[in-house]
Order: sequence, then C-alpha cells, then structure tokens
Amino acid sequence: MSSMNDFFAKVRGEFPALTQKVHGKNLSYLDSAATSLKPKSVIDRITHFYSYETSNVHRGAHYLGDVATQAFESARHKVAGFLGAASSDEIIFVRGTTEGVNLIAQTFGLISVKEGDEILITEMEHHANIVPWQMLAEEKGAKVIAAGILDNGELDLEDFKRKLTNKTKIVSFTACSNTLGTNNDMKLLTKLAHDVGAKVVIDGAQIVSQAPVNVQDIDCDFFVFSAHKLFGPFGFGVVYGKKALLETMPPYQGGGSMIAKVTIAKTTYNDVPFRFEAGTPHVEGAVGLHAAIDFIETIGFDKIHAYEMELLKVATEKLSAIPDLKIFGTAANKGPIISFNLKGAHHSDVGQILDQEGVAVRAGHHCTQPLMARLGVPGTVRASFSVYNNYDDIDALVKAVVKAREMLL
Ligand code: PMP
Repeated sequence: MSSMNDFFAKVRGEFPALTQKVHGKNLSYLDSAATSLKPKSVIDRITHFYSYETSNVHRGAHYLGDVATQAFESARHKVAGFLGAASSDEIIFVRGTTEGVNLIAQTFGLISVKEGDEILITEMEHHANIVPWQMLAEEKGAKVIAAGILDNGELDLEDFKRKLTNKTKIVSFTACSNTLGTNNDMKLLTKLAHDVGAKVVIDGAQIVSQAPVNVQDIDCDFFVFSAHKLFGPFGFGVVYGKKALLETMPPYQGGGSMIAKVTIAKTTYNDVPFRFEAGTPHVEGAVGLHAAIDFIETIGFDKIHAYEMELLKVATEKLSAIPDLKIFGTAANKGPIISFNLKGAHHSDVGQILDQEGVAVRAGHHCTQPLMARLGVPGTVRASFSVYNNYDDIDALVKAVVKAREMLL
C-alpha cells in the first residue's frame, strides 16, 4: 500500500484546488460525486485552447478553424475509444448527462414509445434519469415505473425482472447510484431488458471515473455521462448511441450544423452524429474532456479502482465506529460513496459543521427524492472519494463528524 500511497500523493499534487485552506483548515474535498476537481493538465489544455486555438469548428476556411476542428473531432475519437464504441459516429456531444437523457427521450423516445407503453427505471435514479422520462410518458400516454431496491441499497433484481414485460419499451438505469454508491450490473440488466425487446439507456455519470466501460461488451443501446465528474470541464457531456439506432432518430434541436440543406420550404438533415449537434458546440469542453481522459489513462483504472476501494473500506470502518451514525447503502459492489446520517441530527447541520472543519461533503437529497422516500429520510450527508483523496481526508472527516455529534446530539 505504501508505494500506492506515494503514487497517489503525486496524483494529489496535480490538483491546484487542494493547495488552499478553507475556513483556515486544510481542504478535504469529499464531494467528487457532485463534481471532481480538475487536474493541472486539463486546466492547462483549456487555457492553451483559448489562448492559441480559438476558432469555430467545422466551417473555418482558415488555419485556426482547422486546428479547432481537428481538436474537437480528435476528442470525439478519444471518447469513442474510452467507451469502447465501434465508431466515433456513435458519439454525440451534449451539455451533460441531463441533456443526454433529455435528448434520447425526445428523439428515440419520441419515435419508439406509444400510448400504454412502459419505461422502466429504478428507485435509485437521479432526477435527471426520471423527469425526462416522465415528460415523455406524459406526452405519449405511457407510464414510468420503477424497480425497487433492497434494504442494503442493491437493486431488487426480482422486482426488476417482474416489471419487465412486453409493454416495456425503454429501460433506463444508473450504473452507479450517486447517493448510495451501489453499482448495478450493466451487462445483466441490459440482457434482461433486451430479452423483452426493450432498448437500454445507461446513466454513466458516476461510473466513468471509477471503472472502464465497454459499451459493445455491455451491449447497451445508449450510454450518457458528464465530463465534469471525470476531471473535465462543466457543461459538457456525451451520448453514446448505436449507430443503427441513431440513424433512425429525428433531430433534437434545429439550427446550424445539423442540416444538409435548408430551403424556406424544407430542410434535410446532416449525418449522424452532427444531426444531433445544432449550433456552435462547446469546443473547449471537448478538448478538456480529451485531456481528462488522457489524465485517467496515465493513472489506469486498475490503480484507481484499488485505491478508491481502499479509501472506501477505511472510511466505512472508521465512520461505522461512531455511535449514532447510520450508513445508507451497504451493497457488496459499490463505488467510493458513503451516505450517512447522525441519528437525531439534521443532515444540513452536520454538513455545515463539517464545512467549518474544512471537510467538503454534500448534504441533502442528492437529486434522488424517490430514493429518499424509500429510505424514509429527507436527506443524507454524503462523502465521496476520488484519486486525490488520502487517509488524512478520512481522519479529518471522522474527527469532524465526531465533533458534529458532540455539538448536535
Ligand atoms: N445521474 C447521476 C447518477 C448523477 O450523479 C448526476 C450528477 N449528480 C446526473 C445524472 C446529472 O448530471 P449533470 O448534472 O452533469 O447533467
């Protein structure tokens, strides 16, 4: 472990945000499930792009236009490789996971869901993977139903199977719960959904920073994620879709770039994926995501996974030893996320005390209100870990929670 700790101490040094103090204390940033900090290589790449490569893409008849287009399309290629897609034509650039799910609902959903059909999600979904389906269902006279979870935070597989019927047209689930950390078996759930003829959408927002994904191996039809949870920039994300499906789908938004020919009478649309990318894109988002994937690849998922699991284990053990502390979500297969409450204390009060100690966590419903209803609590405190965290962060967390307990109970 000690060579691993030395290695990750160097990784930590790549994150300028961690050199600052907060409320006079060293910053322990334990909110990576909300957004990850950005390494210097990503910040430098975006600065370089704005300094020397700024130009619009896909239309410049000049040198910088070509440089920017090349950088943008090279990011698409990089993402295709990162996800194991068959072709970069299957990669659509969007604003993030939220826009990605909305895009799928309003294009694929629009042509494939009819009155009386069902869209199956799970009780652990983020609102971004609930509300767009409800909006579609309302438009179409269809229904959104959710598979339940077990008390340990795992998906209730029997309930999932029971709710899969020939009415199910779309199954959309998270690869990893942002609140509980529970990982779902993407390949198994996809296979079960395909067995009833449904198409599969995976919310990859939390998984992409934790583990390698291969969309061809999983065989999902769509996969979405946000760059900002993967050491990349805000406001940028990806929809992967199987090309054969993308080719059947109508455009998402109308405007420049997504067209083949426009007359006042009629417009024909561009090829996939450009058909889904109207207007000037978030070029530095793509460029920054490229640098973020490079950053991950230089560390390697084997190391990332082993290190994050070690942090999760140690933090879970130490938090569990605190009296009156309840952890939500104890699935065997989970990401580096711990949700907890101090019995009798409000999660926001705990969060505020932790903040005063320099420990950044999230306190609230984590955009998972149906899950909170299932757990019977209005909110939780959530600590989430990433490659730049260390044992000192865990000790700071534990010390601050003990202090919160003394102050609040
Ligand atoms: N799904 C999950 C599981 C998430 O954790 C998040 C972000 N908290 C989202 C969807 C939404 O992502 P974004 O806000 O980047 O669109």
